[in-house]
Amino acid sequence: MPDDTARRMAQLLHHRKPALAQGDPVVPPIVAAATFHLPSVQSGGQFYGRNGNPTWDAVEAQLSILEDAEAVSFPSGMAAIAAALFATLKTRDRLVIPSDGYYVTRVLSDGFLRPLGIEVQAIPTASYATEDFSGAAVVYVETPSNPGLDAVDIAAVAARAQKAGARVIADNTTMTPLLQRPLDLGADLVVAADTKAPAGHSDVLFGHVAGRDAGLMARVRDWRRMSGSIPGPFEAFLAHRGIETLEVRLERMCTSAAILADRLAAAPQVRKLRYPGLRGDPSHWAVGGQMANGGFLIGFELADASAAEAFLARCALIEQSTSFGGTHSAGERRARWGDGVAEGFIRLSVGIEPVEVLWSAIRVALAG
Ligand SMILES: *Cc1c(COP(=O)(O)O)cnc(C)c1O
Repeated sequence: MPDDTARRMAQLLHHRKPALAQGDPVVPPIVAAATFHLPSVQSGGQFYGRNGNPTWDAVEAQLSILEDAEAVSFPSGMAAIAAALFATLKTRDRLVIPSDGYYVTRVLSDGFLRPLGIEVQAIPTASYATEDFSGAAVVYVETPSNPGLDAVDIAAVAARAQKAGARVIADNTTMTPLLQRPLDLGADLVVAADTKAPAGHSDVLFGHVAGRDAGLMARVRDWRRMSGSIPGPFEAFLAHRGIETLEVRLERMCTSAAILADRLAAAPQVRKLRYPGLRGDPSHWAVGGQMANGGFLIGFELADASAAEAFLARCALIEQSTSFGGTHSAGERRARWGDGVAEGFIRLSVGIEPVEVLWSAIRVALAG
């Protein structure tokens, strides 16, 4: 782990200490309040639950430490993505998004931005390296992409996009700020689904937008207040608790993923395995550079849809669920959602199970 990551993680675990008074709870209280004592509007403090909440403040303090930037929390990853897009786009703008990234971002853009007169241009992640961004208002990158795990050189794309006058939004969900730092690489805004590894226990949806441009972040905050897209205090508490253990969980998940990717790639039933940490993977160039390691997601193909479904059903230690980044290993056949992948393609999210036990279960399930 790089020194600055270690420092951030330690600071995050103690972020409440400077403000604590005798007898205060060490963990943030869940403040379930719509209204706050307000004899005077001018005196500051909390005033209404759509504008602010002390439990959001706690999780935003953690996220700010992780991102080294102002962070605004949202009730889901999609709420964060919508906020970033509505804060940066206007009629007649052009938005560039990945055609092979998280599909709801594409559906949102097509269904709600296009009818407002925004031109939506979807291009494969692999084309970002050569695309001409002239005339674009926002270049949206997702790297490595979900589910294909193709990588984009964030610094190079940000430099070219900004030179062309565009803003750059990076969806960092598959990596988290501990493994990849798009703002340091020049992105204007980071968006993320903290539903995944940061909250990490498959029990809450959450998201955030982070950035270092105060004007842009003020618009993101205004969007939350005016659209009413606010996280609940219980959800903020769960996200806060999850983030405390993000680093130790990622350590186990990524180490296990590297071991499993090697062994899966050698299994006769497995084809076209993708794991950025493997030498020879098309995204391997990014590992050790913008990506701290290969991550915890593995993509591979089995012979066909029924072979993939049978494997997932047989394996006792892979939950058959969508989403990723949780404590339990989870897998699904992405073609069932219409992703542009082969029928037998499985996205495997490696959890925190001890790796040899996990591998035994996978090996047995593969053998059929
Ligand atoms: C899951 C996901 C989202 C959406 O997050 P929700 O919390 O489900 O709204 C956005 N982007 C990526 C890359 C994701 O994997």
